[in-house]
Amino acid sequence: MNAKPRGRQFFNNPGPTNIPDRILRAMDRPVMDFMSDEFLAIQHACHAGVKRVLKTDQTLYMYSATGHGAWEAALANLFSAGDTVLIIETGYFSQSWAEMATNLGIKVETLAADWRKGADISQLADRLARDKAHAIKAVLTVHNETATGMVLPLPDIRRALDEAKHPALLLSDTISSLASMDYKMDAWGIDVTVGGSQKGLMLPTGMSLTGVSAKAIEVSRKNKAPRHYWNWELMNGRAPQKFIGTAPVHMFFGLQESLKMLEEEGLDAVFARHARLGEATRAAVRAWGADGKGPQLFCQSSDRLSNSVTAVLMPEGTSSDGLRKAAIDRYNLSLGGGLGPLMGKAFRIGHMGDLNEPMLLGCLATTELAMKTAGVPFAPGGVDAAIESLAG
Ligand code: PLP
Repeated sequence: MNAKPRGRQFFNNPGPTNIPDRILRAMDRPVMDFMSDEFLAIQHACHAGVKRVLKTDQTLYMYSATGHGAWEAALANLFSAGDTVLIIETGYFSQSWAEMATNLGIKVETLAADWRKGADISQLADRLARDKAHAIKAVLTVHNETATGMVLPLPDIRRALDEAKHPALLLSDTISSLASMDYKMDAWGIDVTVGGSQKGLMLPTGMSLTGVSAKAIEVSRKNKAPRHYWNWELMNGRAPQKFIGTAPVHMFFGLQESLKMLEEEGLDAVFARHARLGEATRAAVRAWGADGKGPQLFCQSSDRLSNSVTAVLMPEGTSSDGLRKAAIDRYNLSLGGGLGPLMGKAFRIGHMGDLNEPMLLGCLATTELAMKTAGVPFAPGGVDAAIESLAG
């Protein structure tokens, strides 16, 4: 029998992420009546806190569900079978959301994009201008594509809609940017934001949310498509809980602590920390691939690099699965795998949530060690480059 490696696991998956001890301790308490005034006060404080993170004054709904649930909530409330939506291709997660929409009977048009370079927003503007009949009911976006480590410029997308005077709703998945990178739901004119618990909020998986604009609420009221658990009107009818079924009180205990931690650090400081750690990770990857033979940054658009996750393309003839196996089996370092067509060809370093410099350096140094063990070629100096970046 293989002994498990000793010591603390270094967890660098891009979700779920490390759950801080403070959050675990906050959840380690007896259950509470979910209809009590005491719980209601906690729930309302959590709603207000999440709205501050999303920078929205609009309506928030929360679900006992993964991010897929909140994706479905957005689609089920807004669209009927036969409606058309336009999704901007980013990678595996835009494809997955599109697949869900198709399975719900929604017609999905895709603005195709090279996963390494990202979508050309001028093509979106052209497409919207050509849609004179306004057949496109919504533009769907993934703010931070977790599979590729690339960010979409949401303000540019909003501008394209405004300049075309197109009434389509703007939906955005912020699952892997929430509480890691700045997100301004109201200022950017986002109609529906989809978020989840297990990344920047540093919570267990299983709670998700949608921020919904007044315009989107109006659209949902007119939508006749059948739905129940996700039904925003039904949720309004369950006020003051605004929750269908038994509220997961322990998730809210954790969320209350998470919001306290984010606000103690300050959101701007949280985003700056993620930017620092993201840049250091990229410095390491650039050094590993400096000779052209080692791993490379997957994202080739320097103005769209994600500060919460870095996808790394393996050198020809090597497998990211072998590397990840060496990392976890021998050194207790968990890295994310490549998704969809990138399976085996890329790995991902998550640098979101509860993470600091020593944790990241431990991850980068151990990734080098695992590359040596797994026979992956790389140029030296990655960890030094990360240190330089962090010290700068
Ligand atoms: N969207 C993005 C950008 C994600 O990264 C993920 C999961 O990693 C999802 C959606 C799906 O969320 P979940 O796995 O919680 O259903």
